[in-house]
Amino acid sequence: MPLPLTTDRRRTGAARALIDRLSAEGRLPVDDLETLIRTATDADRAYAREAAVAVAHENFGNRVFVRGLIEFSNHCRQDCFYCGIRKSNRETERYRLDAEQILACCAAGHALGYRTFVLQSGEDSRYTTEVLVDIIGRIRATYPDCAITLSVGERGRSAYQAFFDAGANRFLLRHETATADHYARLHPAGQTLATRMECLRTLKDIGFQTGAGFMVGSPFQTVGDLARDLAFLAELRPHMVGMGPFLPQHSTPFRDEQAGDVDLTLFLLSLVRLMLPTVLLPSTTALGTARSGGREAGILAGANVIMLNLSPTDLRPKYLLYDNKPVSGDIAEMTQAARASLGALGYEIVVDRGDHPEVAR
Ligand code: SAM
Repeated sequence: MPLPLTTDRRRTGAARALIDRLSAEGRLPVDDLETLIRTATDADRAYAREAAVAVAHENFGNRVFVRGLIEFSNHCRQDCFYCGIRKSNRETERYRLDAEQILACCAAGHALGYRTFVLQSGEDSRYTTEVLVDIIGRIRATYPDCAITLSVGERGRSAYQAFFDAGANRFLLRHETATADHYARLHPAGQTLATRMECLRTLKDIGFQTGAGFMVGSPFQTVGDLARDLAFLAELRPHMVGMGPFLPQHSTPFRDEQAGDVDLTLFLLSLVRLMLPTVLLPSTTALGTARSGGREAGILAGANVIMLNLSPTDLRPKYLLYDNKPVSGDIAEMTQAARASLGALGYEIVVDRGDHPEVAR
């Protein structure tokens, strides 16, 4: 007769069964996702991690894609309570890069093997559709071998379409939280989850490789909210998922809130990899900021992308989304250091656009 299971072992059996079902079916009901997140033990998380790394290997081998991030403006018309470049933050010294400066960042990155440029900014209306189309067009003409990713927030369909037609390939717009009430506690009235969702669906419809995502441990977040985030990703099936811990910034309304949990973030990365086997999944800067070695831990949890900062060194401290964001460092040295630290784990940073496998085919 088998020995009776202890509560822990019985729970572990249940969590593993849910992890297996998530892998097999690519989705789980919200209640099951909530149970899984709430009850998984360290051993269950290790089980998910090993499975996620195996899935990443099946799809990408030991290849890690590197993206060059260009933070081209920190002006923002939005007022997200968590974000250091929110409109109401009077401490932030504002800056903008012009097309020539952005192209200079691309040139430095291209010489180092970067084949994706991520143009990120606050929601800055000075970069009209025409201005951005011109910048995208010039990058596209100069670097036909590279992918262009935009992360410029909410715009209308015609603007998104114009960016796509000008040569942008990918768009990152985190949904931040898939729970409307929670969204309303992270943003002022006027910023709504419905608008975010509409933008994400439009981006996908236009043909962008589209990225959604959320912060782990943002204020007021519940396990149910995280379960709804995963369920939303399962339904949207984005090409990219950006996910990192919430980190407080000293001049925002959330300055005194607790940072998100790194181990929970790693577990959720593994679950996303199991749910969306071919997704482009960055091990985020926030993860590397929250814990030394966090970026490597993200790759060892199933992530397959890293982003390094091509922005001019003197401007990086002004793009302070959260405290302790790394701002110093020569890009050639940072690239070499990332190659070495991931190389030591058996991974190779490749010179490649790193498109989503469906698009690459
Ligand atoms: N304005 C664009 C947008 O909203 O998509 C792009 C820039 S926005 C600053 C990029 C991402 O930074 C946000 O989607 C958010 O998830 C993340 N972020 C902002 N503040 C953060 C914080 N305090 N901790 C962790 N991540 C944060």
